[in-house]
Amino acid sequence: MTFGLIRPLRRVPSVLDISLEELWREGYRAIIIDLDNTLVGYRLREPAAEVVAWVRAAQARGFSLAIVSNNVRAWVRSIATFLGIVTYVSNALKPLPFGLFRAVRHLRVSRKEAIVVGDQVFTDVLGARLLGLAVILTEPILREHAGMGLVRWAERRMLGRIAPPSAGPQEPII
Ligand SMILES: [Mg+2]
Repeated sequence: MTFGLIRPLRRVPSVLDISLEELWREGYRAIIIDLDNTLVGYRLREPAAEVVAWVRAAQARGFSLAIVSNNVRAWVRSIATFLGIVTYVSNALKPLPFGLFRAVRHLRVSRKEAIVVGDQVFTDVLGARLLGLAVILTEPILREHAGMGLVRWAERRMLGRIAPPSAGPQEPII
């Protein structure tokens, strides 16, 4: 595996730190968002009001939105409905790229126009990069269950070994 496969375009503390204007200027027209710990904190039942406002702002700016989650259908559907996001993929099996691919196709954008947002290197970033999509890595919204500790440790080790994300547009690698 090359480091390019796990290198996000940029890293931000939260979706709220993503500048919609900047993404639009860079040519992105669709945002494909992870659900757990990106939009909704662990063990919370719904997104924070600020996240709802960010989603509304993205839609108002003209972005097409999709949720692509490895979680089960009922949960993903309930949050997508809550947020007014029509396109969603559950049981996506990220980092396998098929769920992300379905979202891109459904949103009718090119892969260069789509950007993925998620909190996990080995699912969100790797899945996006396998498909040649740009990706923004967020910090997870809340502390997670103990099983994620090892994954986070591995993420930190890998990220520590690669160059900081470049500012420019990310080129597809396949
Ligand atoms: Mg997540």
